[in-house]
Amino acid sequence: MMRDTKIVATLGPASSSPPILEQLIQAGVDVVRLNFSHGTAQDHIARAQLVREISARIGKEVAIMADLQGPKIRVGKFSGGKIVLESGNPFILDASRTELGDVKGVPLDYKELPRDVKPGDVLLLNDGLIVLMVEKVVGEAIHTIVKIGGELSDNKGINKQTGGLSAPALTSKDMDDIKTAMALQADYVAVSFPKNRTDMEMARQLCNVAGHQYKHRPAMIAKIERAEAIRPSVLEDILDASDGIMVARGDLAVEVGAAAVPALQKRMIQLARERDKITITATQMMESMIVNPVPTRAEVSDVANAVLDGTDAVMLSAETASGKYPVETVQMMASICLESEVHEQLQLDHAFINKTFNRIDQSIAMGALFTAYHLGCKAIVALTDSGSTALWMSRQKIHIPIYAVTPRVASQRKMALYRNIRPLLMDASEDRDTALLQAERLLISRGVLQAGDIYAITCGEPMGHPGGTNMLKIVRIT
Ligand code: PGA
Ligand code: MN
Repeated sequence: MMRDTKIVATLGPASSSPPILEQLIQAGVDVVRLNFSHGTAQDHIARAQLVREISARIGKEVAIMADLQGPKIRVGKFSGGKIVLESGNPFILDASRTELGDVKGVPLDYKELPRDVKPGDVLLLNDGLIVLMVEKVVGEAIHTIVKIGGELSDNKGINKQTGGLSAPALTSKDMDDIKTAMALQADYVAVSFPKNRTDMEMARQLCNVAGHQYKHRPAMIAKIERAEAIRPSVLEDILDASDGIMVARGDLAVEVGAAAVPALQKRMIQLARERDKITITATQMMESMIVNPVPTRAEVSDVANAVLDGTDAVMLSAETASGKYPVETVQMMASICLESEVHEQLQLDHAFINKTFNRIDQSIAMGALFTAYHLGCKAIVALTDSGSTALWMSRQKIHIPIYAVTPRVASQRKMALYRNIRPLLMDASEDRDTALLQAERLLISRGVLQAGDIYAITCGEPMGHPGGTNMLKIVRIT
């Protein structure tokens, strides 16, 4: 059995040793996430090198995703490292405060916050565990009343309910981190807290400039985690400016309320697929496996439902970064994906009714799906340079494996995130018929195809032009 849905695993102290990393990749990790909220540039470079080495040795390319910290708004530090806030008491968030925090108040690292809030606003601290209501703003000091108290320690995050913080998505730290990400040739760059199209365009431009010296252009993922970003035309705009989105349920739940998130997840995945964009469903998917060897029933259902929603990938955060059972978590997640995919509803013909295309390569991709489905092909093979043919094919649900054969390792890695795409590297001949035969031999040697099988294959003539796919051939292996 082969899995269609991809697995993104965050690297951290629990997953940085060579043997564990190798086991993770063998267990089914398709994309590794380097979380730039933690660790030094050197940590990330060393991890990326290790990933590339292991991939090369075991013959499985994985994509690397650099996840930028973004303008996570945080409280400063306390003199004792933490305090306990009592409900009903006043508490002051003070951007001008220089001494460490105490039970009466704390400094702020985001100096604009006093200008972004007004009386009556609700601030959520520590992922929503602590709730403060704004009473008044005096100069740089936000006077609040504690609505729900609890323990508050150094540098915990602050979200504003219903959104509205003016912080730009890219901080100066992000700009430095983009340079590191391009030096290690991250295949994907995830941007935290974008609130509009411009944030994504700016991030892409910075990546392209920093990547220029390495001749590297990453794909851009917008993390949808601000209330602003889910407004109808805004989400569409952000999608247009991105290669994909992450349903970043952690911060999103704090800003819009956890109850709204499952329906939003479905809407986001559907919109993204319609626009030929990638989706990653993230945060707390297997949370209890940070400490337990088995997931809860609810977590199993959560992963399964994301698969049925049509997500390209499901993501692990602390489970693999700092959990006790990183390898077991990936194994478990892989098996949930497999079992769930069996029940996926096929809607291929339905999706094609009234569909028109203005690109030749796109209509060839759809033609291949249609034919393969109705003829019962064993596999679809796409000879692709940039991976765009594979991307289009992967936007439709079809239970036929799609092999994307490319001469470019960067395309091979990028496609590791695409649902139902199995990327393969092959130095194709410039002669079309030779290249088609080469691809067939590759799939036979991999045990995918054998004598008697029928498969569909697409390519472009002349060969080697990105976006040049213009041919579909149906082959019966003799
Ligand atoms: P984070 O993003 O883990 O970087 O905060 C994901 C989320 O908010 O869900
Ligand atoms: Mn987040």
